[in-house]
Amino acid sequence: MITQEFERQDGNSELWGQIFGPGGHPALTKMHRTYRWIPSPPRCRLCRVPFKSVGGWIMGKRGKSPCRRNPYYCSACDVFLENFPGGAEVEMSILYVDIRNSVKAAYESPTSAVAKRVNAFLQIATDIITRNDGFIMAFYGDCVVACWPPGFVGPDHAAKAVAAARSLSVAFDAESHIPAGTGVTSGPTYICTVAAGAGTFRDVSIFGHTVNLAARLASAAPGGRALVSTDVEGTDAGAANSYKLKGIDSPVTAVEI
Ligand SMILES: [Zn+2]
Repeated sequence: MITQEFERQDGNSELWGQIFGPGGHPALTKMHRTYRWIPSPPRCRLCRVPFKSVGGWIMGKRGKSPCRRNPYYCSACDVFLENFPGGAEVEMSILYVDIRNSVKAAYESPTSAVAKRVNAFLQIATDIITRNDGFIMAFYGDCVVACWPPGFVGPDHAAKAVAAARSLSVAFDAESHIPAGTGVTSGPTYICTVAAGAGTFRDVSIFGHTVNLAARLASAAPGGRALVSTDVEGTDAGAANSYKLKGIDSPVTAVEI
């Protein structure tokens, strides 16, 4: 449901399963460990090479500058996505965060004020998610979607997603000028390359019930709160409530944090 305009791609499932699944791909995890200490963000979504400051300049000289047609990735990773399209189902954690009452705010405010508010939201949300090791999948409108694949973030993916949710609840509480609600889930997720416009542009995206459920929980969460599905490791099932969510037949149990 995330990127209807993109075509989901299959194939190379062993490779993608290794990259995002438990343990990760040795070459990529080695890059993550190395680049992590080189300044500064933003970074390539896949290999995490830095794009700014002195580190970005040096890595640019080594062919790892932002790809012109696909600026979230470095040129090397863009070639990789081009040569190895495909995906795999991997157990991971997903987070959705979106602004409350944005339709009402857009109606009542000048468009420049709305754009400023959404930009501030995206910047703060991106910062919190990135600091908690999240892999940002998409921004659209007033919503950010991120995932924590174990191959990128380790076996404690659920704890990291929940930590991000807690920080988001503090940053966007009901009293702030940007109240936002968050949803967190864990479960099998299809993560794959997606292609747009006759293969002219590739990205990585996520699909499946675990993703849709996180979106629905985010919509059901009050401003400044997160609803964490009881499927997420470490959730206190005793404190859970049952929620009837739009488009999902059976009630879902989640904890409000
Ligand atoms: Zn890269």
